[in-house]
Amino acid sequence: MTSPLSGRGAGGEGWPSAETITRLPKAEVHVHLEGCFEPSDVEQLAQEAGESTRPTDVTGMDLSQFLELLDWTCSLVRTPEQVARAAYAFAEREARSGVGYADLIFNPTHWPAWRHRLDAFVEALDVGFREAEEDGLPPVGLCVSLLRQQTASEAIELVDWLLEFRHPRIVALSIDGNEAAAGRTGPRFSAAFRKAADANLHRTVHAGESSGAEGVRDALELLFAERIDHGIRAIEEADLVAELAERQIPLDVCPGSNVQLGLYPDRSSHPLDSLRRAGVPVSINTDDPALMRHSLVSEYAATATTYSWDSTVLRDVARTSIGASFCDPDLRARLLTALDAWTP
Ligand SMILES: [Zn+2]
Repeated sequence: MTSPLSGRGAGGEGWPSAETITRLPKAEVHVHLEGCFEPSDVEQLAQEAGESTRPTDVTGMDLSQFLELLDWTCSLVRTPEQVARAAYAFAEREARSGVGYADLIFNPTHWPAWRHRLDAFVEALDVGFREAEEDGLPPVGLCVSLLRQQTASEAIELVDWLLEFRHPRIVALSIDGNEAAAGRTGPRFSAAFRKAADANLHRTVHAGESSGAEGVRDALELLFAERIDHGIRAIEEADLVAELAERQIPLDVCPGSNVQLGLYPDRSSHPLDSLRRAGVPVSINTDDPALMRHSLVSEYAATATTYSWDSTVLRDVARTSIGASFCDPDLRARLLTALDAWTP
């Protein structure tokens, strides 16, 4: 426990500043490549594809309209150079928010031009990430995602490919998509996730956003999730909250995204802080930052302000992000050392 003032940096109104948060050593663990195209990128891609552009303002969109916009944007990305450019731009985005490492989710079903040449897609991303690292930008690991609407055999096929390809850039198997539309799919994907777990591939699972607490339970019991992307609707079941705290399962929370997509009316009614106070490890993430028009720094700032967090809480949340990430142990140790040395 800390007193309300003991951990505060400058204190008072306007704290924490963007500069304070940017300097905070942290990882980002829940962000989608598909949601990282700025309106100017979309315009350029549309032009290169010879298509007319579409409105990219997500205000008032529901999750299914939002996913449709993602699909259209990604369908414009057709050359290795465009893919590498997106990877490099992502690392630049993370650097601007002071991120030391990021796990980036991509879902092959969103990239129709690459459906039968996924190897080439990953290689092209890798080119962009390597160039970024050479330029001093943060390292990025890839979480390759299934879609909730896919079949059990498609899931096994993707895992077989991952295990055969075993590209060092790929750190985890993931699953995302609209669970409200897909229904209960945990049992369908259990064999694929078991196979990944048996081969020591990390697992992260979207649940407890478009599904309720039962989706989070399925993620843990059927999909062997090490982390939950979102997971906030676990709050609807007290026993589950206690279990997440007991087992220290991290929730990769995206408060701004949840409010924008209408899951909660505003930030103060979002359960992030209640989960944290109950002992559940939570991190802050952007989900689809370009489409949502926010950054990791603005998300930390808005969250800290909403709940009047002091610097001790900010440090704890950043520590969770680093601990939950799938980065290599050396980098994790370096980031944690830097975090201990951070001065608010
Ligand atoms: Zn997400």
